[in-house]
Amino acid sequence: MKTDERPILIAGGGPVGVVTALALAKRGIPVKVFEAQTEINDSPRASTLHPATLEMLAELDLLGEVTTQGLVARTFQFWDRPARRLVAEFDHAILAQDTTCPYVVQCEQHKIVKMCIDKLAAHPHASVSFGTPVESVETHADGVAITVAGANGSERFEGSYLVGADGGRSLVRKALNIAFDGYTFPERFLVLTTPFDFGTEHGVAFRAYFSDPDEWANLFKVAGDDGKGRWRAVFPTLPGQTDEEVMSDEACESRLQKFFPKTGRYDIFHRNIYRVHQRVAVRFREGRVFLAGDSAHVNNPIGGLGLNSGIHDATHLAELLADVRAGKRPESVFESYDAIRRPTNIEYVQQQTIANKKRLEERDPAAREANFEALRKTAADPAAHRAFLLRTSLIESVRKIKAAAE
Ligand SMILES: Cc1cc2nc3c(=O)[nH]c(=O)nc-3n(C[C@H](O)[C@H](O)[C@H](O)COP(=O)(O)OP(=O)(O)OC[C@H]3O[C@@H](n4cnc5c(N)ncnc54)[C@H](O)[C@@H]3O)c2cc1C
Repeated sequence: MKTDERPILIAGGGPVGVVTALALAKRGIPVKVFEAQTEINDSPRASTLHPATLEMLAELDLLGEVTTQGLVARTFQFWDRPARRLVAEFDHAILAQDTTCPYVVQCEQHKIVKMCIDKLAAHPHASVSFGTPVESVETHADGVAITVAGANGSERFEGSYLVGADGGRSLVRKALNIAFDGYTFPERFLVLTTPFDFGTEHGVAFRAYFSDPDEWANLFKVAGDDGKGRWRAVFPTLPGQTDEEVMSDEACESRLQKFFPKTGRYDIFHRNIYRVHQRVAVRFREGRVFLAGDSAHVNNPIGGLGLNSGIHDATHLAELLADVRAGKRPESVFESYDAIRRPTNIEYVQQQTIANKKRLEERDPAAREANFEALRKTAADPAAHRAFLLRTSLIESVRKIKAAAE
């Protein structure tokens, strides 16, 4: 059989697009990535990389760099925020027999994008273009074509397949008329980045979830571009609040002071506010076009699962594309992409993140106490502790997929 030498086209040079590109390029497959922005977006977004994802990044020779540029977080915690009381702590070390990476690495997503692009530069059959938004998509029985805007006007590119890794507002998904079912939360999420050391001052782990009927919070530490370390605090805002009401110096200061009072003002490096959704595309594939990452599914960030599941899409898809291109498996195997990735996202990412948010914002005192008790009991029982972490670290989802394939 003659190998199809046309490139695989990728719309979107975010983390999922470039991980897909690297996984393909390393197998010798020609690939072209088109990114709308003119440079890597370095605003604070995802950073948590779970054990199952770290194993995938290890296969792409990215684990060492991700670990060096990130922070290893073996434990995470649940807190009762109004009482400022630690409820339970979970330790990934209990997964030592289950994974080569019994820990989480917090590595900012823009660093992951840069690492992948640097590695792609070593593959002459791979290219990444910035400032090139994909404008339209054509699909045929035996190929795809896209038009891309560039400095010299629109240009048309043909390829064997197209991966839509172009984020939550995906043009590729819309071009194929694929509905994005689900809902948008009425409240937006605020992220404040500060160098204040919640770990040394208050014993907070590098990743911590605070339950509060009035204002839940997440706190996690990242290395920062200078490696000096900084904390990101995530809070819900009230529906209808304006940017000014939420983002002003005074509003941010009083929110952090209410969280953990301290003498002197908080130094705030960065603030951003964003809309949060729970949505899943009704199909992840249409002929020779695939959706991966946020273009296929979006979720709230509590639990740090969105980017992880996008990387799982990327590695899964790259393997299928490589196998079909090499003639090892028939094209019909592509049906498994939608048949596996979609329910896996619903079961392990949508359901989990919805439950995580509900647990943090629970208002009923008896239900809150029952949640705390359940977390304490789970943390105290080694078998339950391990089972809980197998699920949250996405190892269980990967095992389930493997078992179904055997
Ligand atoms: C403000 C914010 C904060 C977040 N915080 C967290 C968090 O704390 N924890 C967490 O787990 N997740 C978080 N997320 C979600 C997480 O960032 C995403 O799950 C992750 O970025 C998904 O990667 P992706 O590559 O699929 O999509 P994206 O990162 O969105 O990348 C898509 C890329 O496609 C490009 N693009 C769009 N349209 C086109 C086009 N037509 N042509 C070419 N390129 C195009 C975009 O410019 C972008 O670079 C956050 C998201 C946002 C928006």
